[in-house]
Amino acid sequence: MSAPILKDRNKQVFEKGKAAFDLQCDRKSVAGSVSQRACVFCGSRVVLYPIADALHLVHGSIGCASYTWDIRGSVSSGPELHRLCFSTDLREKDVVYGGEKKLAAAIRELVPKHSPKAVFVYSTCIVGVIGDDVDSVCKKAGQELGIPVIPVHSAGFAGTKKDGYKAACTALSKIVGTDDSGEVSPFSINILGEFNLAGEAWIIKEYYRRMGIEVVSILTGDGRIDDIRRSHRASLNLVQCSGSLTTMAEEMKDKYGIPYKRVSYFGMEDVSKALYEVADFFSEEDPMMKERAAEIVREEVSKYLPAMQECKTKLEGMKCAIYVGGAFKAFSLIRILRTLGVDVVLVGSQTGNRQDYEQLASMCDPGTVIVDDSNPMELSHYIVEKDVDLFIGGVKERPMAFKLGVGFCDHNHERKTALAGFEGTLNFANEVCASALSPVWRFAPRRKK
Ligand code: SF4
Repeated sequence: MSAPILKDRNKQVFEKGKAAFDLQCDRKSVAGSVSQRACVFCGSRVVLYPIADALHLVHGSIGCASYTWDIRGSVSSGPELHRLCFSTDLREKDVVYGGEKKLAAAIRELVPKHSPKAVFVYSTCIVGVIGDDVDSVCKKAGQELGIPVIPVHSAGFAGTKKDGYKAACTALSKIVGTDDSGEVSPFSINILGEFNLAGEAWIIKEYYRRMGIEVVSILTGDGRIDDIRRSHRASLNLVQCSGSLTTMAEEMKDKYGIPYKRVSYFGMEDVSKALYEVADFFSEEDPMMKERAAEIVREEVSKYLPAMQECKTKLEGMKCAIYVGGAFKAFSLIRILRTLGVDVVLVGSQTGNRQDYEQLASMCDPGTVIVDDSNPMELSHYIVEKDVDLFIGGVKERPMAFKLGVGFCDHNHERKTALAGFEGTLNFANEVCASALSPVWRFAPRRKK
């Protein structure tokens, strides 16, 4: 059966080996495609909601507020205000007469009750349509209440999820650089694009602590407004999840002269590389840092590698499909799966750019299908055609895998087990084993090709 690809999406699907690499991306989703991609508002929410001492107010109809902590797993070591989701609950009357008064009243009511360090006000589709002046409401409220009240321009229809990342970066840039007090170590970093799902930021932070590095702020996992305010004083920015916070890293480079590096904390190979790169950066001022990084890598790899080898003996020869938000994560997943003896036969992302897909094409074996901004029809088709044993994705991909009788590993914001760092790599391998090798699949026969 030929793949059910919509005519307008023909160039967003590519099979390696069939022709020279040519893949279209960075486009708005095609109407009728039922894209797996989330909206602009969701993109901004993903980035900002882990800031635990801020109040997150969704200005719009109540349905948008369902993007909340309950379906996202970012944890906090202190305040948990981010777990509450507030909405102005706009109704027909507000659509006709405007929602500005309701928004101003909501901010005025909520701030004294919850004493946040800042308020983020997210504009959703309906606000983009009715044209509320959210900026002036926020400005006035901020002056009255004495805390930053920051508008996030994230009307759902106004672009793709990536535009939501940019809207979040614009909001963050209003806080960064607003506190020059206190000491900051010359060996200091910010970690960008790390959302502390299941405590992953704590694992990573601990490696850097052992190396003698101060983490000034994490944007935004276990995030605090005060840390973000002084983040402009760090010596280096490390950008994980390249899609979401590269704009912020670029801005901090231009404005404060902070260089940045793209890193990944998924897979022992990539975590080691991240630690070595940082040690390298500081090695002139601290020549022993490389040795400390090497010591951590030696210790951690020897702790977890034997169990990884055991997983490999069980998984060798299996086939996997990957569909994730950002392509950078897919690079790491391909590398980990290779060490586990698993072949990647389908890989795609919601927000990858041309450069990302070129890299994916160069990493994959011939016959691998690469998809941009895919949909359930395409993904299901290739899962069956390529006889996949395991699907790695997020909450929207899970039902697809289960309906097709295929193992599934959640590698999105909903995960409750840490998959980053050395220990996270083994957790990932164990999850893959548990799902792909589950006896339940005997009772869910695969759909025929
Ligand atoms: S912002 Fe728009 S597209 Fe996004 S959840 Fe709300 S209504 Fe839906």
